[in-house]
This record gives sequence, C-alpha cells and structure tokens, in this order.
Amino acid sequence: MNKLCVSIRAVVPFAPLALLLSANAYAANDKPAAAPAASKMATKTAAPSPVGTTMAATGTTATWWGHAAFVITTPGGATIAIDPWLDNPSAPKLEHPKALDAILVTHGHFDHVGNTAELAKKTGAKVITSYELASLIGAQSSEGMNMGGTITVKDATIHVVEALHSGGFGQDKSGPKYSGPALGFVIEIAKGPTLYHAGDTDVFAGMSLIAERYHPTIAMLPIGGHFTMDPAGAALAAKMLKVKTVIPMHFGTFPALAGTPDELRAALKKDKASAKVTVLELKPGETQTLPLK
Ligand SMILES: [Zn+2]
Repeated sequence: MNKLCVSIRAVVPFAPLALLLSANAYAANDKPAAAPAASKMATKTAAPSPVGTTMAATGTTATWWGHAAFVITTPGGATIAIDPWLDNPSAPKLEHPKALDAILVTHGHFDHVGNTAELAKKTGAKVITSYELASLIGAQSSEGMNMGGTITVKDATIHVVEALHSGGFGQDKSGPKYSGPALGFVIEIAKGPTLYHAGDTDVFAGMSLIAERYHPTIAMLPIGGHFTMDPAGAALAAKMLKVKTVIPMHFGTFPALAGTPDELRAALKKDKASAKVTVLELKPGETQTLPLK
C-alpha cells in the first residue's frame, strides 16, 4: 500500500480541507481498515482488455482511469474524456491520451478538473463545462454551458444536466473561486448507447426527468459516499434512471469513499425493479466495449 499512501497534499495542492483531513489520516494510518478495491488495483498496470481493443472500431468503448475519469470512444470516431484526473491515486500507469476531441468537466473540484488544462493544450480538445469553470480553466478551445444545453461532438450529442453538489475551483488563501453549478452529462451516441455521467451528486428527483427526456441506458454513478451518494443511493438512482447498466465510480480513491460495487449489487437486489440491473465493474485502466442498449 505504501506507493498509494503518498500525501495527497503533495499530489494535489488545492485539495479541499475535508479531503486533506481524510487523506492525511490515510497517510498516518498507512493501512486503512478496509482496503478499497480500486486502490488495491491501482498497483497493477492494467492493459486494455482484448475485447475493448478489437471492437473499438465499431463499438463504443469506455476506459476507466479510476475515480470519476473516463475516456469514451464512439463508432463515429469521437474520443471524449470525462473528469480526467488521470494522476489520481487509483489511476493506471498508462500513457495519457494523445488525441481527444472533447473534455467534459462536471465541476470545479480538483478531483474532476484534474489534468484538463494540460490535456486540452496537448490535444487541442474542446473543454465543455459550466460557463464559469470554462473561463477559470482557460483552455484555448472551450464551450461554457449550463443545464439544458446541448452540444455535438462528431457522432455524440451531449446534454448538460443537473447534479446535486457544490462547485469551487482552486484553493488559495481566499478560498476556492466560484466555478458555477456542478453538472452531469448525458451522451447520446449514434449507433451506440446513451451514457449518463452523473458527476458528483446525491440521488435527486430530477433523475426521473433525465430518464423521461433522454432515456440513458448506461449510468456512471458515484457510490463512494461522503461527498456523493452511497451504494444504496446509487441503487435508487439506477431505478429512477431506468438504466440497464451501472458503471460504479468515485469510490476507493480515498478511505472516505468507502462504498463498494458489491454493496451496490446487494442494494440493487433488494428491489425487484432493479434486480436485473448489471453492475459493470471496471478496473482502473480497463477498456470495455459498452452494450448497445
Ligand atoms: Zn469528486
């Protein structure tokens, strides 16, 4: 575990106080009581699965970089990163993407903005986020948006939706800067699934509206708890969203994010309507071709 127990202050100078406290506790304890699954996996250098690589040309793929970070590829050739904190404690030791069309950022906290600025500079990707955060990140190509907005990236139609969370960017002596509301994204992929990345959020009533309006088939939901919903909340979210597949995220990176995919499975089984929902558990660095529906 030693490798992982680096001080988060060193890794992330702008960590919010609460996270720093838990991260420092992590460093002091060295071994957390329950080792989070994602952290255990972080020591491995996971290669993309053969399935993901061989089918990438025709299907929609998702690579999980740990925490809330994903890279999605679409049948029409779009490569889209979401909340790319690619240096998170669970992240695989893979080369960072060299080509990206767009980077979606749900909100201003460091664990979601992550490597956005450097990736945007390197790849020329358009940064799509709240109007306020877009100006704070300052990428050459960016699209400041808000809830209700829609933007197209090749064969992906991206809708900006609600999230129930706070937003703040950086943390100097005067505290974080206002970075607009926290957001979620629905990504409709032509000849592919409709994905919903919830960002950081608790379960909220508007998830029923997201289901009614956009019909997502796959939801990337936070399950860690503490800063977001826990597995029980995510199970209720899956029911409201009427999705067939849930990809759990935002767990295991720090001890405070204690929810697990097994707890999500157990919570889903408790409700008849959700018992058939598939939990697609990715390992950090793993690429999977996503089901069409
Ligand atoms: Zn977060």
